[in-house]
Amino acid sequence: MKKCKYCKSDIDKNAKICPNCRKKQNNISKWIIIAVLIIIFVPIIVSMTNEENEEKSRKKDFNQNEIATYKDVEYSITKVEKTQGNNEFVKPKEGYEYVKITIKIENKSNEKISYNALDWKLVDENGVEDNWGTYSGDDDIKLSSGNLDPNGKVEGVLVWEQKIGDNNLKLRFYDNIFDENYTLQFKIN
Ligand SMILES: [Zn+2]
Repeated sequence: MKKCKYCKSDIDKNAKICPNCRKKQNNISKWIIIAVLIIIFVPIIVSMTNEENEEKSRKKDFNQNEIATYKDVEYSITKVEKTQGNNEFVKPKEGYEYVKITIKIENKSNEKISYNALDWKLVDENGVEDNWGTYSGDDDIKLSSGNLDPNGKVEGVLVWEQKIGDNNLKLRFYDNIFDENYTLQFKIN
């Protein structure tokens, strides 16, 4: 004996239809819905997990002289200069210096990409991340923003003002400005 799912009366344990309320006892449609949901969602969850694992195992930290590749775009630092600047009127604060970093971006992908100076941030030895950089007053060819065709490349300078003698500077690249974690990081010598 078992209880009817609907009217709770005792019925034969093999009964497909309750003799009392005439309701069907097997819920095949419920199992079809569950099966369909599994078929739809399991592959989505698996692919999301794979992407997360790939992202976790991806190399993110580079030395100054290394070329970092992300989504078939090559990012590299071609020059780092620490200087008081050459402008007569614009000078760094007392105890500070300009850190000028020349960045090269080469689009090796098959798609047009966009680049932006604001994707780059400099972190000092105290872990302070400087979003905006500074203006040195020198005639540097600045990295600005724009698009790069496939096989296109661009090179430009970004300038930050940092305490003299900070040997633990790191340059960070954010692929998406809303990301909390950096996409690439270069240790600056
Ligand atoms: Zn019943």
